Amino acid sequence: MTAHNFETSVLNTWCPGCGNFPLLNTVKTVLQELGEGESPTRPENLVLVAGIGCHGKIVDYLNLNSFYSIHGRVLPVATGIKLANPDLEVIGFAGDGDAYGEGLEHLIYAAKRNIDITVIIHNNRVYSLTTGQFSPTSPLGFPGRSTPAGSPEPPLNPLELLLAGGATFLARGFSSEPEQMKQIFREAIDHRGFALVDILQVCVTFNNLHKYYAERVYTVTDHDPADYLQALNKIKEWDYGAGTGGAGSGEEKERIPLGILYKREAPTFDRRLSPGGGRSRAATQEHREALIEKILANSK
Ligand code: SF4
Repeated sequence: MTAHNFETSVLNTWCPGCGNFPLLNTVKTVLQELGEGESPTRPENLVLVAGIGCHGKIVDYLNLNSFYSIHGRVLPVATGIKLANPDLEVIGFAGDGDAYGEGLEHLIYAAKRNIDITVIIHNNRVYSLTTGQFSPTSPLGFPGRSTPAGSPEPPLNPLELLLAGGATFLARGFSSEPEQMKQIFREAIDHRGFALVDILQVCVTFNNLHKYYAERVYTVTDHDPADYLQALNKIKEWDYGAGTGGAGSGEEKERIPLGILYKREAPTFDRRLSPGGGRSRAATQEHREALIEKILANSK
């Protein structure tokens, strides 16, 4: 497989310059790499799930099995797919409004249960598909369509919330740093357990924070991601513009850490359900066939 094998003929309608483009290209490269090596992941064992928002179109642009869910419901769908067939590699894509707003409770429970999936958040910090309303991670004072005088709410720090919620892998990337995104995506997918990657995705049309991010991001070094308190301190180093008068104002010069901020090993939910090690592919197939036979017998 090459990255081109994952392309579709669907017309791409993202705005020119959107941070979703490098994110999509990075995902294609990672998918290609997953198909290489000694124990390759075959495309038919990959499933993508998306929510509603500009990000959701990503599943239209990737030639893989995918499920376009409804707003805020990426996690229940991804969880269901994983538990029905633990052999599948499930990758969820969600926006900040989708995951940190409508779907927040689902997200916390997926973290708490350590569902073995990867969730990539296209965090552009605005409801972009609906043309620019403030979202859960918009900075305080954000002058969106629904808050022309500036958002009166400080933003949520989703990584802090998920750390407390029990997530076993938390990372942050930036859509203008594709090489780093690639490394993070690989590690997130390889991680056995709930992995969330928060991508600071530039929305050039409704919340262009490219310059703001470029001046502040740095890659974490000398950091032990297995240490909870170190992770918390790193996560709290930047609070998504809370109390700053608005990202992009130029008043503050916070530093924004990128990289793997937290990582620990813990039993996954499917393993807890099946302490023997989860269903093997053969057992899953057997179970599926038995279920189909039962349904057919009942329908006669
Ligand atoms: Fe990208 Fe923003 Fe355009 Fe949506 S509105 S496609 S997030 S630039």
